[in-house]
Amino acid sequence: MPIRYIFCVFLLLSVLSAEAQVNCDTVLPPPANSQYVLPYPAGKTYKIIQGNCPAVGGHANTFALDFNTLTGDTIVACRAGLVIWANDQYADTDWTSGHENNVFIRHNDGTVIRYTHLTQNGALVSANSFVAQGQAIGLSGSSGNTGGVQHLHLQAFRDGTSYDKWNAIPLNFSNADGPLDDQNMPVNGQFYTALDSNLVSVHGHLDVPANLRVFPNPASGIVQIVLHLHTGSNVQLEIADQQGRLVEQLFSGRSGPGKHRFSWDATNAQAGLYFIRLEIDGRSASAKQVLVPK
Ligand SMILES: [Zn+2]
Repeated sequence: MPIRYIFCVFLLLSVLSAEAQVNCDTVLPPPANSQYVLPYPAGKTYKIIQGNCPAVGGHANTFALDFNTLTGDTIVACRAGLVIWANDQYADTDWTSGHENNVFIRHNDGTVIRYTHLTQNGALVSANSFVAQGQAIGLSGSSGNTGGVQHLHLQAFRDGTSYDKWNAIPLNFSNADGPLDDQNMPVNGQFYTALDSNLVSVHGHLDVPANLRVFPNPASGIVQIVLHLHTGSNVQLEIADQQGRLVEQLFSGRSGPGKHRFSWDATNAQAGLYFIRLEIDGRSASAKQVLVPK
């Protein structure tokens, strides 16, 4: 073969192998508008016991997260989609690589998430069914290559053509309460609480992207409010009753970008419907908050 062809083959191979790499330095957008929620129900807290791209181990050179869920714990869909694979025949004592129980879900943009190491008979959905975000899809376990450590291996892929390391993509979660690294990703060894993500939609017109999370909802007692601002803004946050009367002003002033926490002590408030009114740079929006009797 002429030398220039050999060189071309070499170039082609190096291009292919360059593509077949996960860029572990990828920076994600801030999670407030992520399409994904944590893979467990609101109110639950788990620790990440293996994060993205460690130097060694099963996640080396790839994006994947292991959560310390215990056998039988509920796993929910991070995002709505179509179940493309579900199996749950392997025992939790079968730690053979390839003997994982899994659910794979494909989303409307073609990305796929695998939920892996489920318990035996722990797939709660079957192939070709659609699931909603937050829907229970499986029960955690320790099947397959776990060494007996109960956990959930969560891994997203840019498409369904390959579930190899190089095709993995990073995730962050809109409802995760916990620290992020400088790539806006969850961090190994840290705990993440799933905030209730479905219950607050902000109605109105805001000029700046902002995201309001309220939990619990319904509540009795203390209501926690987390406001994500993408840019510094003048903010007013207040609670109003059903007639629109001011119940309590929680904040009024200038706020920087990022996450801001507020709480409303509703211990002495009457049960019923309330509004969380948010005004940002003169534009207002509101979200509903329900108080239930104690
Ligand atoms: Zn893993």
